[in-house]
Amino acid sequence: MRLALFGGTFDPIHSAHIAVARAAADHFALDRVLLIPNAIPPHKQRQTGASYEHRFAMVAAAVEGDPRLEASNLERGNETSYSILTIERVRAAWPSAALFFLIGADAFSEIETWRRWREVIAQVEFIVLSRPGYGYDIPVGATVHRLDSLQIDVSSTAIRRALAAGEMPDALPAPVERYIRAHGLYRTSG
Ligand code: ATP
Ligand code: MG
Repeated sequence: MRLALFGGTFDPIHSAHIAVARAAADHFALDRVLLIPNAIPPHKQRQTGASYEHRFAMVAAAVEGDPRLEASNLERGNETSYSILTIERVRAAWPSAALFFLIGADAFSEIETWRRWREVIAQVEFIVLSRPGYGYDIPVGATVHRLDSLQIDVSSTAIRRALAAGEMPDALPAPVERYIRAHGLYRTSG
């Protein structure tokens, strides 16, 4: 079993998240990709951001078309959301799986600031997703596969801004767009 973790705030999940997850599953023969929304600690919750429950529901709606993709609640209620703790839980649940970690170039460039990052790089093989405008160095000891075939200039930040300005961005999967409309999310900027 080849299993990948793909963590993020997903505030909201957008079409680039889905496109890179599917491309990674294709290129690296992944059986499953767990999309894991992280908790935002209460003191960091942005005025414009959506709650964990809304973000999780949008991820669940967005992955419906592809059986390899799955919304995971492993970081629900966990204020700290340290990846090493999530990796350890996944490892305990699937002891013999080959573990991969999908991550964008922007996030990977900061990996050495992560809690217990040396253990993180020892536990997983990274699939680093290129992202326009971001480069990265590879720490010694990390196993990195590059996924350079997609270069999608989309971010949740830009989507939140557009929604707050009253626009409906086209980088939202249709079920996510419906969810945002139905719940009136992201209407105001902070
Ligand atoms: P925000 O602007 O709020 O930071 P985001 O678009 O960066 O949102 P995140 O939830 O922060 O989305 O990202 C989750 C993961 O997906 C991270 O590893 C990030 O690097 C990666 N990612 C997000 N957007 C893209 C993209 N357009 N191309 C490749 N990777 C991406
Ligand atoms: Mg981000």
